[in-house]
Amino acid sequence: MTSADTTLPLTVQQAIQFGQGQFGLPRLDAQMLLLQACELPIHDRAWLLAHSDEVLNFETQKRYLDFLQRRAGLEPLAYITGVKEFFGLQLQIDRRVLDPRPETETLVEWALTCVADTSKPRIADLGTGSGAIALALKHSLPSAQVTAVDTSADAIAVATANANRLELEIVTHVGSWYAPLASQTFDLIVSNPPYVADGDAHLAQLPHEPISALVAGKDGLNDVRQIVTQAAEHLKPGAWLLLEHGFDQAQAVQDILGNQGFVSVQSRQDLAGILRCTGGQWPRVK
Ligand code: GLN
Repeated sequence: MTSADTTLPLTVQQAIQFGQGQFGLPRLDAQMLLLQACELPIHDRAWLLAHSDEVLNFETQKRYLDFLQRRAGLEPLAYITGVKEFFGLQLQIDRRVLDPRPETETLVEWALTCVADTSKPRIADLGTGSGAIALALKHSLPSAQVTAVDTSADAIAVATANANRLELEIVTHVGSWYAPLASQTFDLIVSNPPYVADGDAHLAQLPHEPISALVAGKDGLNDVRQIVTQAAEHLKPGAWLLLEHGFDQAQAVQDILGNQGFVSVQSRQDLAGILRCTGGQWPRVK
């Protein structure tokens, strides 16, 4: 089948094959984009099977082709469908925020263990973006007081909308890292900050997401350094600071935490076996 064939009516089954063959997309992406074009729930693959021989109408086919082109141009699927599942929550996502990655669930899982024995823990999520981490924590720990901060007012608008829709009560602030948190202390601070190095070749694969959510200086660690060095006055004794970082940054982040006086410094692997998060505990007695 050639691209000229898109002007001909396609069946559901042919349309999925077309997305895979002509655009080189994974079958699952083609299926979700077709469901979105049909204005159906994007996980309803049973519908696709039951209607595999149904012919698409012209408008649906046009929408689908547009989605295929956007996806082939590396736009995150979540920007096209407007939704992303994160830690069991359905988040609304758009180009104002980073597309939440599954590996960030590692940070959430670890965070939950850090405050498992604390009643009504006070938690801050710095650089919250869509609110993914803050909302996942609040959902799992309803008694927690969760504060989400982002320097982007656009991001806080997305996070607030997600919180309202999911009926999860969190406090949000626009501001850089600790700036809006003067004199507040927490049992746990978490962050998935920008950590890609300036000019990293990998950025060519991420042309649609906010660059401010991705890049942090020559070694990618400018924001990590800032978060760690300013943490002390916002951590209760025994509180944890957990950070997500790049695949090769665990040792560097451990060193930054160790040099700052954190104890029990350690890293955690994501599902791909990559050391993806590093954290430490603020000493109980200084
Ligand atoms: N994990 C993202 C990527 O490299 C980067 C996210 C971030 O900088 N926090 O694809």
